[in-house]
Amino acid sequence: MAAATPATPAAASVAHKPREECGVVGIYGDPEASRLCYLSLHALQHRGQEGAGIVAATPDGILKSVTGVGLVSEVFNESKLDQLPGDNAIGHVRYSTAGQSMLKNVQPFVAGYRFGRVGVAHNGNLVNYQTLRAELEENGSIFGTSSDTEVVLHLIAISKHRPFFLRIVEACEKLKGAYSMVFLTEDKLVAVRDPFGFRPLVMGRRSNGAIVFASETCALDLIEATYEREVNPGEVLIIDKDGVQSLCLMQHPTLKSCIFEHIYFSLPNSVVFGKSVYESRSKFGEILASESPVECDVVIAVPDSGVVAAIGTFIEPSQRIRDFGVKLKLSPVRSVLEGKRVVVVDDSIVRGTTSSKIVRLLKEAGAKEVHMRIASPPIIASCYYGVDTLSSEELISNRMSVEEIRDFIGCDSLAFLKIDSLKKMLASDSPNFCYGCFSGNYPVLPSGIVKRVGDFVDDGLIGSIDSIDGGWLQGSKEQKKEDLDVNHEEHDGKVIV
Ligand code: SF4
Repeated sequence: MAAATPATPAAASVAHKPREECGVVGIYGDPEASRLCYLSLHALQHRGQEGAGIVAATPDGILKSVTGVGLVSEVFNESKLDQLPGDNAIGHVRYSTAGQSMLKNVQPFVAGYRFGRVGVAHNGNLVNYQTLRAELEENGSIFGTSSDTEVVLHLIAISKHRPFFLRIVEACEKLKGAYSMVFLTEDKLVAVRDPFGFRPLVMGRRSNGAIVFASETCALDLIEATYEREVNPGEVLIIDKDGVQSLCLMQHPTLKSCIFEHIYFSLPNSVVFGKSVYESRSKFGEILASESPVECDVVIAVPDSGVVAAIGTFIEPSQRIRDFGVKLKLSPVRSVLEGKRVVVVDDSIVRGTTSSKIVRLLKEAGAKEVHMRIASPPIIASCYYGVDTLSSEELISNRMSVEEIRDFIGCDSLAFLKIDSLKKMLASDSPNFCYGCFSGNYPVLPSGIVKRVGDFVDDGLIGSIDSIDGGWLQGSKEQKKEDLDVNHEEHDGKVIV
């Protein structure tokens, strides 16, 4: 790209982006633990906007839970936080796609077993969930939900090991896939990360000595905790009155951290997998500019839909409303765009429908040429590790060539970040990342049917409750297809979804 002039910031909604399912946080040893959890969940709101929850270990040794559907600010208020006293707490924000948000899926989950109670908050997705569940049911376990996270609780409950953290180790040794988890008991906080290190999890410390775990460092920054280190892939960290202990699960020789955390999910002010997200994104832009240059007058960025949603201004119930959302949030300034050659930079293309609307709006506002540059390789496959990327059939890059996508979107030129260039930029770290959704090559193959967020239907409950007692319903692909069919519409002679 060349001759770039910064444009007046435009705001746009970017529907249908891949979505992170969750963010987790854990606090140990601070009298304001649940309030710090609450603030940290605010910082992680971009990782999930449809449900939030906190579990606190009260001074009298009880685990108390407040969960609800909606944004963190909608679920919690002063009186709710007053119900969560104690020095130790864990929290969770979640995202789901299926119909209305599902109250019973909102974590942390809390369960009782013969040695006490345990709460868990999980970011990621287990690829052997079905197999594990079938084995557990064979041996008499009764499930209240169809969440893969519940499997972990059952495995802990049936373990014969003592003390508690050895139960967690035994349970985690049976898990395959992606998990960054925090557990809370009456007197302990435990943080675990899967051996591949798919999803991030960091540890920090406040000036009063309180230990903090969070999905991203932006949460540490907000509550003035100093970043200490990542929870290592395959590590179990146990925090209790005796201090911090670290154990290793089975180590895997090659890490497979999710590169999409750097492309899209994480906030730019976070350090993820030991790298600045902001610096990664700047480099992606530099590569695009040098490898796919175009003469232009104006460069604009498509704002992050996750952040837009996080501030609570935009709920996406149907395609028709999403159309208005694009217009509402993309506010082209005609005086800046009139007669100009415009480069618009986005992080990814999923269905291509939002991109086509953005191009149309820019052209209607007077842009002479619109060139799209995408700071990721084409997404051609679904994710099994905790990200909702739709099915392969719904991904435009799985169905069309770059030229066909350009034609569909209606822009004058289109270029993606090349996967080889991405790997070259990562240099010696390149083998330590997962590129499954760009290549279809998965580091851990699923066994049985793997839960994807779209595979579940709402149980009809809406509102806020103060505890979870399980009860997912498993929906069908037909349910999802019906939803899509309803949302089909004609656009410039093409069917868009
Ligand atoms: S498949 Fe894609 S989104 Fe999923 S973990 Fe791998 S890189 Fe991340």
